[in-house]
Amino acid sequence: MVPTNYKKMLANRMEQDFSKWQIQQNIEEREVYRFLHTLKGTAGTIGIMELSEFCGKQLEFFTEESTALLPVQSLKPLMETFTDFFTSEQPIIEEAARSSEIAPVKESFVLVIDADATFAASVKDSLEERGISVVIALDGKKGMEFFYTLQPQMVLLDRNLPDVDGFDLVTQIHEAAKNSFLPIAVISADDRIETQIQAMELGATDFLAKPLNMSFFVPYVNNRLRNQKEISQGTLYDELTGAGNRKYFNHVLLQMTALAEKMRTAFTLVLLDLDHFKAVNDNYGHCAGDEVLRIFSQLLMNTKRESDYFFRYGGEEFALILPDTKAQTASDLLDRIHSAFAETAFSFDDSEPFHVSFSAGISEYRQKQDALVSMADRALYQAKKNGRNQTLIYERAQDDFRRHLNIIIVDDDSLVRKLVSKQFSGWKPEEFDLRIEEYADGASFVESEWFKPEENYMILLDGIMPKMDGLEVLNHVRNHYPHENIIISMLTSRNSESDIVLALKSGADDYIVKPFYAQEVVARIQRLTMRMFK
Ligand code: GH3
Ligand code: MG
Ligand code: MG
Repeated sequence: MVPTNYKKMLANRMEQDFSKWQIQQNIEEREVYRFLHTLKGTAGTIGIMELSEFCGKQLEFFTEESTALLPVQSLKPLMETFTDFFTSEQPIIEEAARSSEIAPVKESFVLVIDADATFAASVKDSLEERGISVVIALDGKKGMEFFYTLQPQMVLLDRNLPDVDGFDLVTQIHEAAKNSFLPIAVISADDRIETQIQAMELGATDFLAKPLNMSFFVPYVNNRLRNQKEISQGTLYDELTGAGNRKYFNHVLLQMTALAEKMRTAFTLVLLDLDHFKAVNDNYGHCAGDEVLRIFSQLLMNTKRESDYFFRYGGEEFALILPDTKAQTASDLLDRIHSAFAETAFSFDDSEPFHVSFSAGISEYRQKQDALVSMADRALYQAKKNGRNQTLIYERAQDDFRRHLNIIIVDDDSLVRKLVSKQFSGWKPEEFDLRIEEYADGASFVESEWFKPEENYMILLDGIMPKMDGLEVLNHVRNHYPHENIIISMLTSRNSESDIVLALKSGADDYIVKPFYAQEVVARIQRLTMRMFK
């Protein structure tokens, strides 16, 4: 079956050409010829033989060098036929995407970049006979395009290319792929020692002289592919669980994002975290904890589709990257995993059987989205807060994640309170809701029920106040409330170094010396509170 990815890529490129044509009235005959010629070659290369043959027949109606202008209108039927070809295949494409044998980005194959089509085809024949897939690019431009979109496991290239120096490609490819240990072999008729040395210096892994000795060549490619797989598996998978590691996660996420931008496809990220896992370690020991991690990972790897990716994100946190998947479909998958894991009973050293649950956050990739991980993380955090053992979709429950910043002004001078709060009322942040509260003295603030654990606070504290002064309030807050979502700034007219040092030592984050400009205070507070909403 033709891998979905190539097909999508091809359809996409064809659409781009067509939309370019649509905005012109006329088109040069030779451009149509070139279009058909390229499509014929690419379709043939990736195995869509009917399309390749169809293009071949159409080519007979056009002349290669002709600059005659053809009305775009007259090409409409032809364009429609091509479009139909891809859309009528759509169900097959979707089915292919679902079927387990299609894992486009993971499939192993070799990219051959060589202007000599006969040579490239013979390489393709001999490798494909042994089950190694090959894609051919006849020039450097196409070569780089295939390299980025298809992510080959090995590149073979000739230095002599019609559009660029093959050695430039070696440099580029080596730079882009050095982390994945990609073998790059230069194959050239120019086998002078200087050329070979230069290839090595630029990052090629091997140099082979043309003509190739095929009885050596096939085992050679096999050897390199096997090595590449072993090395990358060794460095990309977590030893304990067999899940992909964090490094591999980062790599796949980048790759999926680039692909989604290019192909306009959807994919979904899920972050998972075992619930109260510390208790498993505490009650049954670390070995038991390890076993739970292993069994949980086994369950996920057995339940996900072949084309989905599963990673150990760190400790007892995991991630799934699901290509071609909407958030709701991901959520259905997670429901199944929740049920299956709930039925898994653990018992160690004759302990009473016990169960472990997990929480998860889902976020679907949207175009130009660069906060995917933090969105899934927010959903996971919310799932934990809602009581664990559940999965939330970020996009669905966005309102629950709406955050609050409370600005509390504690000052006995009503003019200061008014000035500052009036200045804040002009601030309309997008990321959170702003609330402003005023207290005329320390005691009434401390006695009020001002604190909610899920909200964020910026407290402006006057130094000298009746009943309870600023330092006392500061000490009270720092001793009774969590540190991370409360920022405190002292408003002080005592410009004395020792007071300031004392305030900072007691846990103030900042101080502002009176008299001050209200605008300045607001700007300062905005900067201080920014870190709460990253
Ligand atoms: P929560 O429901 O909020 O996620 O609670 P939790 O206890 O799961 O979360 P917390 O982050 O407090 O604790 C995670 C624990 O996971 C702490 C750490 O010792 C344990 N852990 C991390 N990696 C491993 C591992 O490889 N093996 C074992 N046995 N334990 C691990
Ligand atoms: Mg955790
Ligand atoms: Mg946990």
